[in-house]
Amino acid sequence: MKKLLVANWKMNKNMQECSEFANEFLKRFSHQREAWIAPQALHIPLLTHLFKNSHLKIGAQNISEFNEGAYTGETSSRSLIDAGGSFVILGHSERRQYFGETSTKLNAKIKTALSQKLSVIYCVGETLKERESKQTLAIVANQLHQGLNDQNIADAQNLIIAYEPIWAIGTGKTASPTEAQEVHAFIREILSNKFPYSGYGMRILYGGSVKPDNVEELLSQKDIDGALVGGASLKAKDFLTLCFDK
Ligand code: PEP
Repeated sequence: MKKLLVANWKMNKNMQECSEFANEFLKRFSHQREAWIAPQALHIPLLTHLFKNSHLKIGAQNISEFNEGAYTGETSSRSLIDAGGSFVILGHSERRQYFGETSTKLNAKIKTALSQKLSVIYCVGETLKERESKQTLAIVANQLHQGLNDQNIADAQNLIIAYEPIWAIGTGKTASPTEAQEVHAFIREILSNKFPYSGYGMRILYGGSVKPDNVEELLSQKDIDGALVGGASLKAKDFLTLCFDK
């Protein structure tokens, strides 16, 4: 399976910048790796249009656990699909930290998104304090068990896990390939037990200051199937380098 590179643009770029990125990216994208982009929700229709016929998926950085109704300010899975989106990132540490999203709330969001046939990238990861006190595996296991509790086994094929140590996000610090591999192998074991048929083959992405100069070493690890990328996905040139299999 090709490695998957997912761009998380967070709350960056205007429409003009989205178009410029697409033009530059499409000139040189060689499909050696799979590429997905999660822009701000309002830019999803534009990005879907710009990348039509390119096999590049466009998705959201969050959705509601509800399908429709009186939930002011929320965006539903159905409207994401209607706008051309096909995946959603859920449980990013910025959503957990700034918007109070718990693994229990995320469990409901994951169920809703999967039931609508969206692909879900569920993020897990520990703080620096938790790593230093050797709680990484316990924290990650807990986030996985709560977030994935009672999820339909048949939906697991649309589920992707992103391991993102919080201390490595946007900080320039990266988990060493060995540190990341250890956690990825642990996640794979949990998924294999939880989803007996499809768990072992589920994709597990690494996220946390992935850049052109560290991507190859990280992606060469046995259990790292791709990367979720913030800062280095904003420039087409850098994201192209990440998507190029040397
Ligand atoms: C992220 O926000 O998911 C992320 C990994 O950011 P960065 O690559 O900038 O660390």
